[in-house]
Amino acid sequence: MLSYLHAFHAGNFADVQKHGALALVQTMMLAKASGIACFDTHAGSAIYDLRGERARKTAEADGGVQKLWSGKNRLRSKDWKPFLEVLAGFNAGSGELSVYPGSPVWFQHFLRAGDALTLFELHPSESELLAGWVSEAPIRMLRQDGLAGLLRQLPPKQPRLLTLIDPSYEIKSDYLDVAETLGKSWQKCRHGIFLIWYPILTSGLQEQLKEAVKDTAVRKVLCSEVHLRKPPERGMTGSGMLVVNPPWGFDSRFSAMMDDISGSDALNLTHDMDWLVPE
Ligand code: SAM
Repeated sequence: MLSYLHAFHAGNFADVQKHGALALVQTMMLAKASGIACFDTHAGSAIYDLRGERARKTAEADGGVQKLWSGKNRLRSKDWKPFLEVLAGFNAGSGELSVYPGSPVWFQHFLRAGDALTLFELHPSESELLAGWVSEAPIRMLRQDGLAGLLRQLPPKQPRLLTLIDPSYEIKSDYLDVAETLGKSWQKCRHGIFLIWYPILTSGLQEQLKEAVKDTAVRKVLCSEVHLRKPPERGMTGSGMLVVNPPWGFDSRFSAMMDDISGSDALNLTHDMDWLVPE
């Protein structure tokens, strides 16, 4: 029984890190003309209403994308530009952010002729909303388990691969299942770029994922972690991303983006980046 709904969390500090990384990787991949097969293994419902009851109940976006948006003139990295353009496109006319795009939209924004996007979503109401958003090829939605579904689709037709693995980690075995799926996917497509999001929890469960990834054959795994300077006593205190095969120069450009939003006048967090597994 799936109960997680991303509408309660859309636009929080973790989404800013995750979608910031995704937008930068995609921007950098556009430097080459060859086609990209994109996979979003846990897609959610694509569009989130920041004024809706669910978003207002947690108000998580207030400490995330709303802070970024209100301080956008102070951002120094030019790599925020595509990110801000996507947000502006959804919130045209109003000075405020009332709509937040989920990962399918970030993927879609950068698609070119010759690229493709496959979205997996299992939740009944989320997949229905997502199906309403998916209009036509080259985007398709599959109501399948995202991890098993990804393995069935690899290797892709296109010469390049970009995959986002972003489960809700409702089931404790998700941490090890993600690592196992990464290991198997990498064997089928060693040059693929994989982005894996995970929560940083007071329980430390995320260490299972990181240790299990180290035990696979996968190389070149960059690890970016943001930590809240004022964390809750229990639960999620930060947000992590593993980036397998990052484009050359991604680490310094992404660090500059995260440094921009670290201050107490911004998202009030710290950022660390290092290789979990080097080349
Ligand atoms: N990637 C989205 C974004 O960044 O906007 C957010 C995704 S949310 C963290 C995780 C999603 O995975 C939920 O919508 C949930 O219903 C879905 N989900 C849970 N288990 C799944 C599974 N086994 N396969 C595919 N989707 C699943």
